[in-house]
Amino acid sequence: MSGPAFVFHPDYEFDIGRHVFPTEKFRLFRDAVVEEGLATVDAIEYPEKATDEELLRVHRPRYLADLRSYSHTGRTLHSELPISRSIVEGCVRTAGGTLHAARRALECGAAFHLGGGFHHAFAGRAEGFCYINDVAIAAAWARRVARLDRVAVIDTDVHQGNGTAHIFRNDPGVFTFSIHQQRLYPDKQTSRLDIGLDAEIGDDGYCEALAPAVESIVRDFRPQLALVVAGVDPYEDDKLGRLGLSFAGMARRERLTFAPLAAAGIPFVTVTGGGYARRLEDTVALHVQTVRIALDVLASES
Ligand SMILES: [Zn+2]
Repeated sequence: MSGPAFVFHPDYEFDIGRHVFPTEKFRLFRDAVVEEGLATVDAIEYPEKATDEELLRVHRPRYLADLRSYSHTGRTLHSELPISRSIVEGCVRTAGGTLHAARRALECGAAFHLGGGFHHAFAGRAEGFCYINDVAIAAAWARRVARLDRVAVIDTDVHQGNGTAHIFRNDPGVFTFSIHQQRLYPDKQTSRLDIGLDAEIGDDGYCEALAPAVESIVRDFRPQLALVVAGVDPYEDDKLGRLGLSFAGMARRERLTFAPLAAAGIPFVTVTGGGYARRLEDTVALHVQTVRIALDVLASES
């Protein structure tokens, strides 16, 4: 079996003006992954854009038509992002990237998407910084095309994966799990398993809540694929989240997520999700840490 796949595309860095969401982080993440020797530049795979057929497994035709008008309408307005051709097409490319990563994870055991995690987008509307729910599109592909009976979404971003939860509310084959800060954006939907934490819970409280949840999903649901939304906004110096996890606590989070998956031989995909640290280099370093620890866990299992 070949090593884990790495997936990235320059289209992810679209121009949204001055904004709390730094879209340059994807390129910096890619650069750092190469610089640290976690992947060679030639090994990084560039995905196709998601096709309309792939997008329509999750999103409604009228909403997609609105997006492709590249102007704000009632359905796209709640995105908290500007809208333009490059932004929408960057999101379509991102959805293709998460789908590509899911396909590759089934082939080689793990895939790191250096992008994605737009988990607030609903079937018929935008929300937050999210137009197209790439996580849902990959999960829908895994269910309908790869014919998997059990797909888990493990969402450790500080914000609840509300769009993903709503999209799969009637599909028992997709286990949506979200561990997040309770009193924070967004309005909550009901995931299969939600853990809403108090602000400033810190490393120990967070890890005590996370560990049994991941273990029970692996043991009882037995996913054939896990999509991990590894947002780094639970970090203590984040501008949006306030869970108060240290750098070391974030490392513990990754181990508690990936070790049970690797031990059970469950293929997994990571997507970046959020990350709004005061210092952009912290956000990038935390995303790199996710990859490094996942690789470490995989190596210790093989
Ligand atoms: Zn977030």
